Amino acid sequence: MNIFKDQESNVQCYARNFPVVFNKAKGSWLYTADGEEYLDFLAGAGALNYGHNNSVLKKALMDYIDADGLTHGLDMYSEAKGEFLTQLNQTILKPRGLDYKVQFTGPTGTNAVEAALKLARKVTGRHSIVAFTNGFHGVSYGALAATGNQHHRGGAGMPLQGVTRLPYDGYADIDGLALFETMLNDNSSGMDKPAAVILEVVQGEGGLNVASTPWLQKLDKICKQHDILLIVDDIQAGCGRTGHFFSFEPAGIKPDMVTLSKSIGGYGLPMAIVLFRPELDQWLPGEHNGTFRGNNHAFVTAAKAIETYWRDAQFQLHIQARAEQLTAALEPLLARYPGHFDQIKGRGLMQGIACHDGKFAHQVARACFESGIVIETAGPDDEVLKFFCPLTITEEEMDQGIQIFTDAVERTIASLLKKAS
Ligand SMILES: *Cc1c(COP(=O)(O)O)cnc(C)c1O
Repeated sequence: MNIFKDQESNVQCYARNFPVVFNKAKGSWLYTADGEEYLDFLAGAGALNYGHNNSVLKKALMDYIDADGLTHGLDMYSEAKGEFLTQLNQTILKPRGLDYKVQFTGPTGTNAVEAALKLARKVTGRHSIVAFTNGFHGVSYGALAATGNQHHRGGAGMPLQGVTRLPYDGYADIDGLALFETMLNDNSSGMDKPAAVILEVVQGEGGLNVASTPWLQKLDKICKQHDILLIVDDIQAGCGRTGHFFSFEPAGIKPDMVTLSKSIGGYGLPMAIVLFRPELDQWLPGEHNGTFRGNNHAFVTAAKAIETYWRDAQFQLHIQARAEQLTAALEPLLARYPGHFDQIKGRGLMQGIACHDGKFAHQVARACFESGIVIETAGPDDEVLKFFCPLTITEEEMDQGIQIFTDAVERTIASLLKKAS
């Protein structure tokens, strides 16, 4: 393992909590060369919604590679891209009454966010962007300015500008939208009228905070009244994670722009897109570009994932059932250990349990890893244990995960009591 310690930058992060070398993965499972197996409740931070090496997607990809299908395509037309656009339009956008243009950006989430922010500024001629407390939008400069977390912001080394911060739904019991509205209507509030508001409907890295439907609808209304663009960053919460393809569906709003990455490629392959209303498509050709906008392997698995999982309600019902199974298991734990757990957070399979402090959450996560689950924490103090399993997880696997988690909680509490006595 020393090759990693010796050679890899200190910026490396996840392996600090999971210091093993993985060599295989399938479905909800990760395997090491030593023959250890782990249930994956991290799932590529949401990039593996359809599981590791999903057999249906793998078959499509293998066939495509075997036929020497295009791998790299810049932003040229390719059959694979055409197939993806067709699937996205027919299976996802049309049935939801969404009329969006699709921009392919460089294949990471932060790239899509940069493109959305640039386009919003270009279209409106305004510079300021409103972002929310605990929001996470990526770590390139534009996206980082919209990100709340001080640890990430600290890496910038220069001022992060052009963003006005507002309290998210439920933040410190402050009504952020009342404040926003009042300030927009006051000529002397000192708030420059923003080009756009960017938000996550369920905050992934920020601790699984959920924006309620009334709050979202009010935000949408304020934006419309003041001619401010509404951008939903659905990079983590999208592609089914919260129980619908898009996180904003239950609220019945239609954002002006939507960013997608992480699981849009379907197979863990890099891909990112921005969706926006056709009238907003004021880009000049090549004005925002990127060499790897045409990852055709990702287009193949992205199209296949949509075709396989989103043509009917089956998959959504599956996500809902697994989410209920998880909630039903977490509720008694919360009731049994109110001294350690604070609340259940999130929505769908973007669910977690908040601890009173990050230290306990960390101890439980370590105990989970010892017993065979890879699970991470989120939130301002890393106090939320985040159950980010693949959405394809079976009922039995979820039961297994819950059992290991429950045992880990009980072991951690027992060892704390032993230490205290
Ligand atoms: C992960 C994430 C990003 C950044 O994506 P990268 O691929 O890491 O650049 C942006 N927004 C949200 C909500 C995310 O979860």
